[in-house]
Amino acid sequence: MQTVAKIFVISGPSGSGKSTLLKRLFAEYPDTFGFSVSHTTRKPRPGEENGKDYHFVLKEHMEEQVAAGKFIESATFSGNMYGTSIKAVEDVVESGKVCMLDIDMQGVKSVKNTQLNPRYIFVRPPTLEVLEQRLRGRGTETEEAVTARLEASQRELEYGDTPGAYDRIVINDDLESAYKSLKSAIFEA
Ligand code: ADP
Ligand code: 5GP
Repeated sequence: MQTVAKIFVISGPSGSGKSTLLKRLFAEYPDTFGFSVSHTTRKPRPGEENGKDYHFVLKEHMEEQVAAGKFIESATFSGNMYGTSIKAVEDVVESGKVCMLDIDMQGVKSVKNTQLNPRYIFVRPPTLEVLEQRLRGRGTETEEAVTARLEASQRELEYGDTPGAYDRIVINDDLESAYKSLKSAIFEA
């Protein structure tokens, strides 16, 4: 089975299920897909590994590296910096795997101004209420962070509904169906 592109950008509101879907994909196809490990200044959540889920760095370090031109894109989301280094994508591409980026809407807009030319997939929650339940249910955010993420979600959902913003939309209501829909967006029939 061939993928329709060598690089995919997965985006969608915080709590929409991007990590859950990607983890499943990496578990099922460990030799096919690789994750573009972003940098972030946020604190690791329990279970997150430095260098695997993210490169967890200090703000000063990240600002320096961004200024030095080492990032394809970077953005501030919910009070923390996030960014995709050139090396993060290169490492995956050079390993011969299909590269998966999990980035926010600002990152999507920035990547559109580069030569990367990925396929863009939007992961949409069934409703804002369900999104809020899942985000709270994950239990990883402070009340302040939940509020900031829900505010950002409104903008992400509006952008997701803009014609042409994404190549495919995956609605994550039932997880099984969402995973099937993700696979159909990635693999050629
Ligand atoms: P994101 O990476 O987009 O921020 P997560 O993958 O962390 O989102 O998912 C947010 C929460 O919702 C997690 O606790 C996850 O287990 C849960 N979740 C994801 N998809 C579903 C689903 N289809 N049904 C119920 N819960 C889900
Ligand atoms: P979280 O803190 O929940 O892991 O991620 C918060 C948001 O940051 C999510 O929307 C996620 O897609 C986004 N994100 C993660 N890595 C990057 C990145 O490298 N660049 C950008 N622009 N956003 C990122």
